[in-house]
Amino acid sequence: MMTADNAHLAAKIREIPDYPKPGVSFKDITPLMQDAAALRDAIDQVARHFAAADIAHVVGIESRGFIFGAAIAYALKAGFIPVRKPGKLPHETHRCEYELEYGTDALEIHTDAVRPGERVLIIDDVLATGGTASAAVELVNKLGGEVAGLGFLIELGFLNGRDRLKGHDVFSLVTY
Ligand code: AMP
Repeated sequence: MMTADNAHLAAKIREIPDYPKPGVSFKDITPLMQDAAALRDAIDQVARHFAAADIAHVVGIESRGFIFGAAIAYALKAGFIPVRKPGKLPHETHRCEYELEYGTDALEIHTDAVRPGERVLIIDDVLATGGTASAAVELVNKLGGEVAGLGFLIELGFLNGRDRLKGHDVFSLVTY
């Protein structure tokens, strides 16, 4: 899937060198969110891409995935499901651990969040290595849900996260 030419959105993404650690160029989306037209356009573009995908629920990944995920759910007239860091969800959860550069991290979902066969769209702000997104895919699959696609504002193409999401419709607005 080609990404759209979104120079006007790219112009609203601030790059912070060496944050949170040396060598990382952090993509700060707060200027994009602050801009009414850019925020609306980003949400609309992702919603439009998945408009015919019969999405029952949008899964947003903590925490920036919540902001866009909830808005995209509203636009698609779908429900919203949070996927969160360990210990944040109050009810019974499934957990998926995934590798980081150093050590592991984990994500959780409520066990009653998705019903078998439901079509789910996963949303986060940045697709980097794809570890976070593929953990979310695993959680949805564990509940019997069908991942109908994944949407991101930003894709770091040089990290090849897309390769870990093979077979899925991966849509992003701005690629680096
Ligand atoms: P990954 O699991 O490597 O695909 O990393 C994706 C997660 O880490 C997303 O939830 C992003 O919010 C965050 N992330 C990774 N790299 C960056 C970056 N360069 N700038 C901002 N957020 C990032």
